[in-house]
Amino acid sequence: MTDNNQKRIVIIGAGIAGLSTAFLLRDFGRKNGFQFDLKILESAQRHGGATRTDISEGYLCEWGPNGFLDNEPTTFDLVKKLELDSELVKANENSNKRYIFHGGALRKLPIAPPAFLVSDILPLPSRLRVLMEFFIAKKTKNSDETVDSFARRRLGDGFAKYLLDPMVSGIFAGNTKELSLKSVFPKMVEMEREHGGLFKAMIAKKAAAKKYNTTSGGPSGPNAILHTFKTGMGHLTDTLADSLSGSIKLNQPVTSVNRENGKFRVFVEKRSFEADFVILACPSFAAADMIKDISNPVSDAIRGIYHAPVDVVCHGHHSSGSEFDPNGFGVLIPRSEGIRSLGTLWSNSIFPGQAPNGDFLLRTIIGGAHDPQIVELNEDLLHRTAAQDHKLVMGIQSEAIFKQVFRHKKGIAQYNIGHSIKVAASEQLEKDLPGLYFTGASYRGVSVNGCIKDAFRIANDFKKLVGKCQ
Ligand SMILES: Cc1cc2nc3c(=O)[nH]c(=O)nc-3n(C[C@H](O)[C@H](O)[C@H](O)COP(=O)(O)OP(=O)(O)OC[C@H]3O[C@@H](n4cnc5c(N)ncnc54)[C@H](O)[C@@H]3O)c2cc1C
Repeated sequence: MTDNNQKRIVIIGAGIAGLSTAFLLRDFGRKNGFQFDLKILESAQRHGGATRTDISEGYLCEWGPNGFLDNEPTTFDLVKKLELDSELVKANENSNKRYIFHGGALRKLPIAPPAFLVSDILPLPSRLRVLMEFFIAKKTKNSDETVDSFARRRLGDGFAKYLLDPMVSGIFAGNTKELSLKSVFPKMVEMEREHGGLFKAMIAKKAAAKKYNTTSGGPSGPNAILHTFKTGMGHLTDTLADSLSGSIKLNQPVTSVNRENGKFRVFVEKRSFEADFVILACPSFAAADMIKDISNPVSDAIRGIYHAPVDVVCHGHHSSGSEFDPNGFGVLIPRSEGIRSLGTLWSNSIFPGQAPNGDFLLRTIIGGAHDPQIVELNEDLLHRTAAQDHKLVMGIQSEAIFKQVFRHKKGIAQYNIGHSIKVAASEQLEKDLPGLYFTGASYRGVSVNGCIKDAFRIANDFKKLVGKCQ
């Protein structure tokens, strides 16, 4: 480290992870009298990464995230620091109605246990098997387990196949037979370990909520409410970027990061920058290429984190004359239904105002770990696939009056079995080379909340390191 107060920090990637980390480090520096030379190197022509909003013809379309859940306090801490509280928008109450396409028909998903019991969405034996969860002994071995194996063991085959798989596809565009439970749903591992099962943990949580007079649930998520901003999620990255504008360098594709005389050197094509701190806030496959000279084994480990392709197809329709009236969160489509789309969000029913008055906006996700061939489809075919699926699932016959598509070739990190070992390898390198950090959706949480929480981890660690240099 330099022994004066001027620390040189290079952050690679200006997505939500890189921008929020940069903001927190600079906030810390300003409050504590540190002068930082802060550079955020971004390979693309603009900031934001996947967190970006496009507003055209009155339709608000999200490239990537359409919101974040209110179950992660650090996101609200960041929102507060940015003075964006008054811009927040909560999901409409109606959006607690969620649908599934099951047996060729649109069906309301039973959310509360009594509704689930009387719903015929699963055959009676499968519903009774879910109830048996209360009596299933907890797993004693601490081994990594797939999400599918956990669900079959505790809740039965029917629940795993017809309900959990589409839910997981809808959130992670993932395959439950490959995703690691402890990396994707660490809370479920904890619920089983600490309370003996999911029902037992929920009962304990309800009792605690009653005792402390807090809530234990809400619309748009089992325990949380979806939020966005009045002008979409891009408002968050735009506000961060505005506040960091002098530090962001666009069109700067980093090629490698080396170590020289106890410092880091970051290469962008033929130029290079010396740095005391390097924060790799780009996806792991990009970071893997950069750190080959620092550690080939860690480079190999993180290169193995698969990112599934996903496409977002937005279609706007006039409500008048339409056969369909979206009223709820949207519809999930199980793979067993033989339909290509993973599901459709009813955007302006979740967040009114995301479509012009009298119109509605559908946001369909196609691709994911089940369907990597999606990258071969051109945009026209994607629109036709979405339109055909809208017809089958929601009965929409009319042609969309507005169309937009956003493509993510390496879209969503898949925390498959063995993910924790890859992350541990990167964490060991962070310990061996203080000042180097790996962050972003590839590692400890694919959501916006996960990225922001990790930005706080780095900021806290950074404070300790900088403190030691004094
Ligand atoms: C379709 C879709 C829907 C989603 N929906 C939700 C949702 O509703 N809610 C939610 O919480 N999360 C959602 N997510 C996940 C969320 O979008 C991500 O967690 C988050 O945006 C990832 O942020 P990041 O900064 O880690 O990565 P990114 O946004 O990918 O940013 C990384 C940046 O690094 C840059 N970069 C790459 N290589 C280099 C290089 N060599 N040199 C310099 N820069 C480089 C990239 O250009 C990019 O700007 C969704 C994701 C997708 C794709």
